[in-house]
Amino acid sequence: MKMSLSDRKERLLVELRAAGIGDEAVLSVLSDIPREEFIPRALRRQAYENAALPINSGQTISQPYIVAYMTEVLNVTKKHIVLEVGTGSGYQAVVLARLCRRLFTVERHLQLLSAAEKIFKKLGIFNITTLFGNGMKGWPEQAPFDRIMVTAASEEIPENLPAQLKDGGIMVIPVGAQGKVQHIVRLTRRGDDFHREDLLPVKFVPLLSGIVHDS
Ligand code: SAH
Repeated sequence: MKMSLSDRKERLLVELRAAGIGDEAVLSVLSDIPREEFIPRALRRQAYENAALPINSGQTISQPYIVAYMTEVLNVTKKHIVLEVGTGSGYQAVVLARLCRRLFTVERHLQLLSAAEKIFKKLGIFNITTLFGNGMKGWPEQAPFDRIMVTAASEEIPENLPAQLKDGGIMVIPVGAQGKVQHIVRLTRRGDDFHREDLLPVKFVPLLSGIVHDS
């Protein structure tokens, strides 16, 4: 039987609920955003599989469950200024932008960033500001942020990032070496203290320094 993309999307949402995603705002945004726009044309039939998929520059668009999970644990509201490190396809950026006031996103591959910017325009999303650069440094000119999400894995939490959180702010980041178990770590800032929680085990592409002019 041939299933339409919208049937596949419905099936994915059922799967995400069954897997424990309960935040209606997050589910509603995932249901609104056309994930097929963010992946290579040849893979569009797979847009609503609960799987990570390859994008350009050897990177991946994260698995929908992980996007939903990281968004849910970040606890984003319409008042928040949010930083994302690792724009990639731009999908997670749009998910966050729909839930927050303004999203700043940094990507080290120019080719990916240019493609993502085109999709933001096409979808009519105007509260995203992009930067081609090394997001390990955060974005000091725009800091402090209410929320920070890093979508590439790092062995250690880059020290510049927590410092760019507001008091009470939250950051989520996959932490761990490549080929080893990584965990989504959630840091909550309380004054000069950072409360750390190690959450879900995951597998992410690496957070790397430097920039790549590949377009
Ligand atoms: N959020 C993306 C996930 C892409 S994979 C999405 O929804 O598609 C992680 C991305 O992080 C890759 O595009 C990679 O190039 C980028 N990245 C890795 N290290 C980075 C760094 N130091 N600064 C900015 N981007 C980085």
